[in-house]
Amino acid sequence: MQTVSTLFINGQAVAGEREAFGVVNPATGEAFAQCPAASPEQVDAAVAAANTAFKTFQHTADADRKAMLHRIADLIDAHADELAQLVTLEQGKPMALAQMEVGAAAGWTRYNADLDIPVKVIEDSETRLAELHHKPLGVVGSITPWNWPLMIAVWHIMPALRTGNTVVSKPSSFTPFSTLKLVELINEVVPAGVINIVTGEGGIGRAMTQHPDIRKIVFTGSTPTGQDIMRKAADNLKRLTLELGGNDAGIVLPGTDLDKYVPALFQTAFVNMGQTCAALKRLYVHESQYDDVCQRLAAIAREQVVGNGLEAGVTFGPVTNQAQLDLVAALVEDARAQGAQVLSGGAVQPGNGYFYPPTIVAGISNGVRLVDEEQFGPVLPVVSYRDIDEAVALANDNINGLGGSVWGNDIEQARSVAARLESGTAWINNHAEVLPHCPFGGSKMSGIGVEFGEEGLLEYTQSQLLNISRG
Ligand code: NDP
Repeated sequence: MQTVSTLFINGQAVAGEREAFGVVNPATGEAFAQCPAASPEQVDAAVAAANTAFKTFQHTADADRKAMLHRIADLIDAHADELAQLVTLEQGKPMALAQMEVGAAAGWTRYNADLDIPVKVIEDSETRLAELHHKPLGVVGSITPWNWPLMIAVWHIMPALRTGNTVVSKPSSFTPFSTLKLVELINEVVPAGVINIVTGEGGIGRAMTQHPDIRKIVFTGSTPTGQDIMRKAADNLKRLTLELGGNDAGIVLPGTDLDKYVPALFQTAFVNMGQTCAALKRLYVHESQYDDVCQRLAAIAREQVVGNGLEAGVTFGPVTNQAQLDLVAALVEDARAQGAQVLSGGAVQPGNGYFYPPTIVAGISNGVRLVDEEQFGPVLPVVSYRDIDEAVALANDNINGLGGSVWGNDIEQARSVAARLESGTAWINNHAEVLPHCPFGGSKMSGIGVEFGEEGLLEYTQSQLLNISRG
């Protein structure tokens, strides 16, 4: 597999000045390629290039920027096979899911291309015309995680470019290659310096967060890292969009059609081996249907074909890295020790690679680590409840507030329960669905700001009120 082994700074492919590091294929546990590592001087050079490029790129005609994003989307499509291979190799997801990720990356790019940047007329009177405009911020630093490496890079980069900013991208060291390829492709379209990428283990993200010439950081990842970024960003009042951890609850109302909804419950909990910020991570089921739901979920779990995502027929890939595998295993062991029952999976698969089969845990409630903490992996704790008030209280009893869901046949009843959830998104009879036109963001410790839609786009801008006197 050919991988991009250079950084991109000021439109040039350049070698990393630090020693390259191995990137592990989670299906084999072995490094499959070496990633370039940037020096602090190269981070500075990338920011300087982006800063210089901003001087002209911010004035590019709106229609030209739209056309650029459409050309980028076409290039993503043209390289779809290569990008999907890279995603599966570095991240582990089954090929069909990697292909979906690439398709979504192209789709999100086109959606951003077609978005208009609004001008709001605040007052149009005899005395004045007051209009609210939106201007780009400058250099945007994008720091991305390892779970959906290509798609999340697109979520950060495309609205930034659409609004006339320039970008320095820093992908996770676990999954740098799909983003390196993406940035190579974007460089075929945009002027030199508009998009730059610096990879490297540790330190690069911190250097960006502290850099005085970066005007905004958009970050997706863990809550502690988000907090660290927020503290450091204070020095030059960087704008922030932080999409952080979630521990999303789902509530199954009494009398729910289980034939219809249990497959979707499984899918939304285990999408990407559970390594999705807004996956369903705790499930609350009314006691009248509790055993039935648990058994049905465990049956679907046992049907999964666990293996290397590059192999045909595999439906469930590995966990992406050793640390995440260790966390999942430790949380399940702790739950067992507290008396919970493991209905499927429940042990690291022997052999190479970070395989942990989909695991359903019953006989558990709030107060056990597996329920209280974000597991971010292939295990779902299922909790029994007696009445709706108790279910809502248990669901809201968490520091996170990314998403939440209510499942049931009576939509009006589900709507009234959903309104009580402390979460940035409340789904009914669904979970984890993110859409390019629907603003998405967390409440409580799950983040600040939103991505997607016009609201997400405008987070890459600074408003300027234009006040024309007619007196
Ligand atoms: P991190 O939050 O540590 O890393 C995410 C990104 O931030 C990486 O690019 C990383 O670079 C970079 N980074 C790390 N430390 C800093 C810092 N102090 N300042 C600036 N950038 C930094 O996530 P992990 O990969 O370690 O995953 C840990 C946990 O995060 C998971 O268990 C999961 O709970 C959560 N997570 C949440 C995601 C989400 O979508 N909300 C996605 C991924 C993880 P580098 O890789 O080089 O260290």
